Amino acid sequence: MAEFDLIAMIRARATMRGGVLLGIGDDAALLHVPAGHELVVTADTLNAGVHFPEDTAPADIGWKALAANLSDLASMGARPAWCTLSLSLPQADAGWLEGFLDGFLELAAMHGIALVGGDTTRGPLSIAVTAMGLVETGAALRRDRARIGDDIWVTGTLGDAAAALVLAGHMPAIEGVAPPEDARIAAALRMRLERPTPRVEAGRALLGLAHACVDVSDGLLADLGHVCERSGVGADIELAALPASTALRQAFGDGAGRIALQAGGGDDYELCFTAPPVVREAVAMVLEQAGVECSRIGRVVTGDGVRALAADGSRWQTPPGGYVHFG
Ligand code: ADP
Ligand code: MG
Repeated sequence: MAEFDLIAMIRARATMRGGVLLGIGDDAALLHVPAGHELVVTADTLNAGVHFPEDTAPADIGWKALAANLSDLASMGARPAWCTLSLSLPQADAGWLEGFLDGFLELAAMHGIALVGGDTTRGPLSIAVTAMGLVETGAALRRDRARIGDDIWVTGTLGDAAAALVLAGHMPAIEGVAPPEDARIAAALRMRLERPTPRVEAGRALLGLAHACVDVSDGLLADLGHVCERSGVGADIELAALPASTALRQAFGDGAGRIALQAGGGDDYELCFTAPPVVREAVAMVLEQAGVECSRIGRVVTGDGVRALAADGSRWQTPPGGYVHFG
């Protein structure tokens, strides 16, 4: 099978949406940005063996490649519109591509984002997606708008994806933690690693309420650190307030290992945002309407950097060895 046939397969399955004057098939796509909106553009690349384990199913790779990009759009408060897909494949494998498109296009359909172009080449397995979204002029959520006194919030739960990597042996084991006996617990954690949920509706709901926002892809403390740096503020985080899923608690208990996964692990694709205390109830309400759980985990303070505080008020020490990203 030649590159041309692969592109024909992709073209046959890609669905359209408004604003696409020209999609797959010309030298470039032609897109219409509606009046009163700004174009939000982001790119993320997934390399085999670095960003996902080699044995990941093609459909899960497809889902995750798009999910990582949708999560970036979500953190800006943008509505997903269009995307491109650059594929580097070791061989022209139609079966692999069908599986990949199953996952990619399933998530694309859920968010009404159209695949409008890309590139297909031979090389080590690598997937580069560029996603474009729309946001009302001047309304985008940014990293550099946190203000002293803001509450710090996070959507969903943290640490599941990192836990799945630990259980699969891709990250260092945690002392004193045995793999869960119930296979359903490991499967639930693995699902969160392979099929993350980009918080697009949450990002949209937070427009006009949140001051600053970032998506948690590299780990909460690292990503919140970016907000602090860009905003010129510090952050105090209460580790006891970090939200954990039932599966994570069942697998890792309540010790330091579990908290390390939540504070430092990556691949969560939740939103971490700041908002003034006067909109607390409004935040809780709009996120409930969006069907997303949220937790208040700390406060924006003067100074710089993130201070993670244990229940007794002492400053958190990263466990020896720390936790590094897969790869
Ligand atoms: P060119 O050589 O002009 O870049 P290509 O032959 O690479 O054109 O691509 C032909 C058309 O197919 C273009 O519209 C391109 O955007 C689209 N395309 C190529 N690869 C992909 C892909 N992986 N996903 C989506 N569209 C693709
Ligand atoms: Mg090309």
